[in-house]
Amino acid sequence: MVQVIPPRSAAAIELKAGQHLKVIDPEGEQVADLLALNRHDMAEVLSSGRTLDYQETIYLTRGDILWSNRSRQMLAILEDTVGRHDFLLTPCSADTFRIIYGHAHPHRGCQGNLHAALAPYGVAAEGLPACFNVFMNVPVDAQTGRLKVLPPLSKPGDHVLFRAEMDLLVGLTACSAEQSNNYRFKPIHYQVLD
Ligand SMILES: [Zn+2]
Repeated sequence: MVQVIPPRSAAAIELKAGQHLKVIDPEGEQVADLLALNRHDMAEVLSSGRTLDYQETIYLTRGDILWSNRSRQMLAILEDTVGRHDFLLTPCSADTFRIIYGHAHPHRGCQGNLHAALAPYGVAAEGLPACFNVFMNVPVDAQTGRLKVLPPLSKPGDHVLFRAEMDLLVGLTACSAEQSNNYRFKPIHYQVLD
């Protein structure tokens, strides 16, 4: 069954090892921040640094693995109809909106939405690592290292299919940042499949 994450919100998803998570962009140009924690030991979390090190790329796609801070495999990317995602930037937050956008009364962003979704499982706000930002388009200039946040390349119905490599608690958002989503907030759909 397809589940809907409304614009600017998040969901908590339990995955057993071997189950699949399909993340779908129903309207196109919408980012979904994905966080993963070991279901049985929440100190083991998704690690951007480990993953970029072991996969030797910043542009992860089909065939790549997302690793934990303990150098164990958390998620495998089995399908990817877009081929451009980000694993450099932290989830948008009230501070993001204050510092980058100059908002006086900022939205809590993906960071706040993830914490709210995961708090019932005992996940603390301070412990949230960098997310794998599904559909986020952050090209990096190879010479200067300058990066840009551009509209996602995803079209309506595009998806990424992950396989859980261990029992996981996953946080997934419909991202709240203007720049990341071409200035229109849209839902994200997902499915848990055996
Ligand atoms: Zn966000």
